[in-house]
Amino acid sequence: MTDRPPAARPGHRLLVVEDEPSIRTLLEATLRLTGYEVSSTDTGQSALLEVERLEPHLVLLDVMLPDLDGFEVTRRLRAAGNDCPILFLTARTGTHDRVNGLRAGGDDYVSKPFNIEEVLLRIEAILRRTAPAITARVMPSVLSYADLELDEGAHEVHRSGEYIALSPTEFKLLAYLLANAGQVVSKIQILDHVWSYDFAGDVRIIETYVRYLRKKIDRFDPPLIQTVRGVGYSLRLSRDHGGTPEQ
Ligand code: CA
Repeated sequence: MTDRPPAARPGHRLLVVEDEPSIRTLLEATLRLTGYEVSSTDTGQSALLEVERLEPHLVLLDVMLPDLDGFEVTRRLRAAGNDCPILFLTARTGTHDRVNGLRAGGDDYVSKPFNIEEVLLRIEAILRRTAPAITARVMPSVLSYADLELDEGAHEVHRSGEYIALSPTEFKLLAYLLANAGQVVSKIQILDHVWSYDFAGDVRIIETYVRYLRKKIDRFDPPLIQTVRGVGYSLRLSRDHGGTPEQ
């Protein structure tokens, strides 16, 4: 426990290898918004060089590239002793190709057209397995943002100096949002950190608890809990209130 303010979300470095500019841009923007450090490239040969240079924690690797395909890139990396986790992006849905991809040494795959939340989920699942030390975060004992303050030791929340009573789950959810204030957290990340077990079903429980929290925290002005459509939630001032959503 320390008293320093919440650190920026510890970034995992991701490399996106995709030759379709619109998909590459979408992935880069979303992953950055979620707090990852992102680099990108568009050919198999350049992917081999960038993996060496950047040592990413995970590579999102398109299978159909203009030069080497993603399977060949993976084979060459593995042959060179590089075990960087690889998530294939594949337009191929045949069982044969899935098997080929996993046999080539990939960790998982997502079929195009993909749902971006599913991509985030797969990335998080792989990183949980492969990079646990970076995923772990140290929470300071007092978290604050704007006029909102949460004291973990005393288990108390105040906004504008006024005490706010929260249930244990609401408290944990708010602590997680505050620890990542200014960043966007996905529903999957929230499930992982607040509910603390592999939740096979329904992320609607999060929407329910966010609604409870808003009734208590955001009955004050301005609202602090923002919905980021298609991605998750962020505790920050909205642009309308002079906030600086991204640094
Ligand atoms: Ca492609």
